[in-house]
Amino acid sequence: MVEVERHRVDVVVIGAGGAGLRAVIEARQRGLSVAVVCKSLFGKAHTVMAEGGCAAAMGNANPHDSWQVHFQDTMRGGKFLNNWRMAELHAREAPDRVWELETYGALFDRTPDGRISQRNFGGHTYPRLAHVGDRTGLELIRTMQQKIVSLQQEDHAEYGDYEARVKVYAECTITELLKDSEGRIAGAFGYWRETGRFVLFETPAVVVATGGIGKSWKVTSNSWEYTGDGHALALRAGAALINMEFVQFHPTGMIWPPSVKGILVTEGVRGDGGVLKNTDGDRFMFSYIPPVFKGQYAETEEEADRWYEDQENNRRTPDLLPRDEVARAINSEVKEGRGTPHGGVFLDIASRMPAAEIMRRLPSMHHQFKELADVDITAEAMEVGPTCHYVMGGIEVDPDTGAASVPGLFAAGECSGGMHGSNRLGGNSLSDLLVFGRRAGLGAADYVLGLSTRPAVSDDDVDAAARVALSPFDAADTGFENPSAVENPYTLHTELQQSMHDLVGIIRRADEIERALDELQTLRARIRQVAVEGHRQFNPGWHLAVDLRNMLLVCECVAESALQRTESRGGHTRDDHPSMDPQWRRTLLVCRTNGGDPVIPDVSVTAQRQEPMRPDLLALFDIDELGKYYTDEELADHPGRKG
Ligand code: FAD
Repeated sequence: MVEVERHRVDVVVIGAGGAGLRAVIEARQRGLSVAVVCKSLFGKAHTVMAEGGCAAAMGNANPHDSWQVHFQDTMRGGKFLNNWRMAELHAREAPDRVWELETYGALFDRTPDGRISQRNFGGHTYPRLAHVGDRTGLELIRTMQQKIVSLQQEDHAEYGDYEARVKVYAECTITELLKDSEGRIAGAFGYWRETGRFVLFETPAVVVATGGIGKSWKVTSNSWEYTGDGHALALRAGAALINMEFVQFHPTGMIWPPSVKGILVTEGVRGDGGVLKNTDGDRFMFSYIPPVFKGQYAETEEEADRWYEDQENNRRTPDLLPRDEVARAINSEVKEGRGTPHGGVFLDIASRMPAAEIMRRLPSMHHQFKELADVDITAEAMEVGPTCHYVMGGIEVDPDTGAASVPGLFAAGECSGGMHGSNRLGGNSLSDLLVFGRRAGLGAADYVLGLSTRPAVSDDDVDAAARVALSPFDAADTGFENPSAVENPYTLHTELQQSMHDLVGIIRRADEIERALDELQTLRARIRQVAVEGHRQFNPGWHLAVDLRNMLLVCECVAESALQRTESRGGHTRDDHPSMDPQWRRTLLVCRTNGGDPVIPDVSVTAQRQEPMRPDLLALFDIDELGKYYTDEELADHPGRKG
């Protein structure tokens, strides 16, 4: 039996971003003991990077806003592929979750009359993003950590131990979920990044909150943590992933210098008045309003500019179309030869606002461009282009409880699927984390409290998980005798990123996706031969080798689903199937593992019918708008059709 440090808790939350921390708070408040495990430092989750804000229909900046309008915008943004129940819960509960953060100590920017200020963002009808300058995610995490500390202080008062019910395990990577003989979650296995020593959490419930998958693409706004671990852990444990073909390319990433390519330029720049221009100086977005959004966006620059001051009597600027539309438009401009010297377009706020105002509203953006590109955004335009940013696809969960199909497994945040359909609106992630992080924490607590027997981990499963984790060291022994028989993890990672960038990127075609699948098949074999040198003590090569099998599995899900979906919708654009097909709107592609190799199991993708939207929610939309997305048969009972 391998040597392993053991901990016994009621709930393990994997991930200390917004979703994970909100789940921790909820499970602890139900009286359970919780371990929060994160592979980075505590407080350094991806959520910290969120800049623009958190969408919630509080109606502070425009009293006409309501949960119904937020729901409509979210469904429109996702091109009606969203899990409507999730979109409903999200729109209804987001305001309470933001106000609740204030009770934890959050300090949002204010309106002149002292309410939480809300800013414009793409696809949102009204100014809706509660924000703290352009550092909203940082405040969100700071506040929730503060809440956790206060709960730990209560525990100290009661038990004499700060960590009696919430303990943080930072720089600790989970590599496998373990189940009992009845197929229930029984534990989570991992290793300490610093020492390489193994650790086992014996637990009946796991909340996966591990974020996204962007590190499998060459140009991305995502940090090193986004290797799709949670997606792969859940898949290997028997859960399903949905919507994996939908990957969001944010329209505005930095493109120069090469070392910073992909770093995000917040949509808040456009929300606050920045406009996109090509090298001819044209505001090209007016030429890219798609038929489904015709009539909803300004058609002249004058109207678009008036909208910033008077939103009642003008339509919004097409610079704030949903992200998929803007990213495709930029792609076309560059392809047509109207791009900037470094292959992007210009984003201009300098000519539209006094320097002091830019410094007040966008301090991080100013700092980022000055430090990384030597560009002063108060004086000159930024050069921007699309960057892989967010995955809409993820673990299929019950909307109300966050439960996946494996008993004891829950998921929330970016690693879960359904809420955003084919395309997420900016600001809807931070609110998603709060709403569904809370629900998953609650779901896990209720599950544990309802158990009559506690599942047990088998020693064989622990040994097997350790063997898989250590296999890159075994391969190194082979490499010693025959160097050409082994592979370097960094080389494979670069090749994987290049394949996904070139062949399963922003615009896709069947022949290219098929090539990607062939290349992934080759990488699958080569990953088994990855060898790492040295010891288990902080060894980044080994960490990457362990992550690679997750990345490969997730990339196969993305590529296979992208091949099967023969239409274009949201974050999935097929050059060879350019239109949206109503039959596909009601179809989800579901990825499961299929046995085969225990290290990287085979993936199968099957079509599944979407649950029809509840009639009272469907009735919120105009029949003419729905006709652009739905089949006639689906709309037969809509009041607009009956009347
Ligand atoms: P994260 O915050 O990424 O947390 C994931 C956690 O899981 C981390 O603690 C990580 O260490 C841990 N983890 C991962 N794998 C493992 C493992 N194997 N073992 C242990 N721990 C693991 N959204 C908005 O709504 N508004 C915005 O303004 C906004 N701006 C953004 C700006 C940038 C630059 C980026 C990149 C994203 C932005 N987003 C924004 C998106 C949003 O920030 C993310 O979708 C969201 O923060 C994801 O939160 P999460 O809790 O799901 O995961």
